[in-house]
Amino acid sequence: PDPTLRPEKLAEDEGRSLRPQALDAFIGQAEARANLRVFIASARQREEAMDHTLFHGPPGLGKTTLAQIMARELGVGFRMTSGPVLAKAGDLAAILTNLEARDVLFIDEIHRLNPAVEEVLYPALEDFELDLVIGEGPAARTVRIELQPFTLVGATTRLGLLTTPLRDRFGIPTRLQFYTVDELHEIVARNAKLLNIPCVPDGAHEIARRARGTPRIAGRLLRRVVDFALIDGDGTITRDLADNALTRLGVDHLGLDSADRRYLTLIAEAYQGGPVGIETLSAALSESRDALEEVIEPYLLQRGLIQRTPRGRMLTQGAWAHLGLAPPKPAGQ
Ligand code: ADP
Repeated sequence: PDPTLRPEKLAEDEGRSLRPQALDAFIGQAEARANLRVFIASARQREEAMDHTLFHGPPGLGKTTLAQIMARELGVGFRMTSGPVLAKAGDLAAILTNLEARDVLFIDEIHRLNPAVEEVLYPALEDFELDLVIGEGPAARTVRIELQPFTLVGATTRLGLLTTPLRDRFGIPTRLQFYTVDELHEIVARNAKLLNIPCVPDGAHEIARRARGTPRIAGRLLRRVVDFALIDGDGTITRDLADNALTRLGVDHLGLDSADRRYLTLIAEAYQGGPVGIETLSAALSESRDALEEVIEPYLLQRGLIQRTPRGRMLTQGAWAHLGLAPPKPAGQ
């Protein structure tokens, strides 16, 4: 499938990013934003580091963007790394000892931290202390290093994969939700304006409707539709133009792309609608289990196209209708 239609991060998102810079400019996630506003103001008033914060939810919903906004609104520095990048305890120690008072340290994909690195993180989060082992063998000794108070902002697409001790150290756990079409409409309209591309409301709405509830996808679809508007159209994004462009990109009317449809069609045609286990689906689709669980399934579940049962995944009536297929008759009828 076309990677530009998937919600995972790609290099092209950086640089050209239209990330909102302030909490007021951030559209959607009203509940999370209202709470963050209070916690930020309180930390500023107390002149202390804000509590450690965990953002969880599917990729592309604004976890990194909110972490950056937090640092800006707190008036502190921002450091960014990710779970898989921190291979050794020393990698984390180097970052922690370089933080200034009240800085925000953002760790993306925090569920992928190496256990040895996680051990180092616990005392750092609780007491702003680091226990480092110096030397090896019988000569090894532990030294304790005081750290500046800081705020850890963790992001994960898989809350269930976080260890309990790590989860417990976040004072502010925040779940991000898929965006409504109206919220995405506002984001598309704002981005079109920033890109200086005329976009009628119906055009923005069409893109929003087909963006899988995800601002990152809305941004990518907008850029592709802009290409069609400039080359095939008169430079304006209308509903017809957006519809044609998105259909040519393989994005259907619910916003599903070829990978989503392959997943649904497999369950329909090879497993009579399920239930079918995730490992079986992963093998049949040659997609990793993680990719299915983090990227494909959350939106299909949210749209009510599949159900998760103890015996596996099942298609709903809505999925059969969307595929234009008749569900099998129940046995014995
Ligand atoms: P995550 O860290 O959850 O994967 P990001 O914070 O990197 O997501 O956001 C993905 C993209 O979507 C970025 O380009 C960002 O500018 C855009 N984006 C996310 N949330 C919003 C929002 N509420 N309003 C406008 N753009 C947003």
